[in-house]
Amino acid sequence: MKLTFWGATQQVTGSMYLLEVDDYRILIDCGANFDLDEKQKKALYDEQKSVFPFDPTLVNTVLLTHAHIDHSGNIPNLYKEGFEGQVVCTEPTYSLTGLLLQNSAMLHQKRLNTANGMSSNKKKKGKLVKDIPRDLFLEKQVKDAMENFFPVAFGQKYRITDRVTVTYIPAGHLLGAAHILVDVRDVDGKKKTLCFSGDLGRKNYPLLVDPQPVPQVDYLICESTYGNRLHEDTRSPEEALSEVIQRTCVDIPGRLIIPTFSVGRTQALLYTLNKLYVDHNLPPLKVFSDSPLSFGSTKVYQKYSRMLNREAREFKEANEMLFDFENLIYIESSDASRAISNYSEPCIIISSSGMVQGGRIEHHVAANIENPYATILMIGYASENTLGWRLLNGQDTITIKGEKKSVLANIEKIDVFSGHGDQNDLLNFVKMQNSEQLKNLFLIHGEAQSMREFKDVLNQHGYGQVEIPERGQSFEL
Ligand SMILES: [Zn+2]
Repeated sequence: MKLTFWGATQQVTGSMYLLEVDDYRILIDCGANFDLDEKQKKALYDEQKSVFPFDPTLVNTVLLTHAHIDHSGNIPNLYKEGFEGQVVCTEPTYSLTGLLLQNSAMLHQKRLNTANGMSSNKKKKGKLVKDIPRDLFLEKQVKDAMENFFPVAFGQKYRITDRVTVTYIPAGHLLGAAHILVDVRDVDGKKKTLCFSGDLGRKNYPLLVDPQPVPQVDYLICESTYGNRLHEDTRSPEEALSEVIQRTCVDIPGRLIIPTFSVGRTQALLYTLNKLYVDHNLPPLKVFSDSPLSFGSTKVYQKYSRMLNREAREFKEANEMLFDFENLIYIESSDASRAISNYSEPCIIISSSGMVQGGRIEHHVAANIENPYATILMIGYASENTLGWRLLNGQDTITIKGEKKSVLANIEKIDVFSGHGDQNDLLNFVKMQNSEQLKNLFLIHGEAQSMREFKDVLNQHGYGQVEIPERGQSFEL
């Protein structure tokens, strides 16, 4: 069999790996690549004459580790370009992927409308722009794609072909997220096993089960996002959050703005706030959850609450509501969203996106960045050159929504809500494998520096066969 690394090679986004067993082709993840800008993407797609570097009509099945768009965001394009097989994933992944892809389609539609509007000024009204990006998909295409998903249960073996069996193992990280085990039987009956880590979560993360053990495999394809970093904050999420709220909304009665992702991170935050509320540790402040997507994904978390960790299930049993508490207000319309930017009492605003790049968070940050009584709390990773990254790096001025503004608000950071395991978690994940029986370990889904440092650590722990594949590199297994 042959494994080719087509994405998330020495970078974090764009996960996509092609496994060929004779004529049968399995794609593991099919994610959007955020490390390329629009110009670079266009050049690449024009050169390939496709969004993909291989022929999508020849792919038989997709195995999806989890819903995040850097793992799922090109699935509608795979169907658009002729893929006719199924996407195999867990039930929550199916629901969350549907929401995320619909959200992407809505943004694509907006982009298209804007482009058409611009062209209609110059040309005939209603005439479509010719240069539609190849990776642009719309609602109907997402609907068509979602009809071909095949949801599976954790821990069960599923036969994909006569020779290939797959098992999904809980990976923490996000509801429904999995490590995928792939068993391949040779023509002579010998078995080879691969594990695709997907994104590895952390122990004791709000709501989610801990990542579960993976059996001995021959080949491990392992993420390395935090390959050179440690989560140093040992406080619980409740402690960390309540300290910030006390300081920023009570001691100095101001506004606390939390940029965050709508799927996963927002639910962890709302659940933690609810726990503080139930324990009478939440001051009487209004909490605005301002993202239509987070409303939908919170419902998915409620629907699959049986798959959450024991603490969350017991909390639900005792209090009925996992996320809803007095003073929590879900904001749906964009008018209401704009109105809360000017709400004058101390309050908490949770909005997306987490990197302050696009989404409603931009107008909350724009309206409050020059207010010394406001605090912007970063709770996750922000890619280089995003607005979130600029704020974290202490820039005095930023340009937001076309306006240059001074940064007078307080910028704070906590990492207790990060959804990725750190270097120790990654090392412990690898250490489940006997180094002598493991034939190869491939590092993916990390910055090059992070991979190099993690490789050194792995070498020190006796794992000699560590590869850092390049895009397009193939390995005969
Ligand atoms: Zn992820």
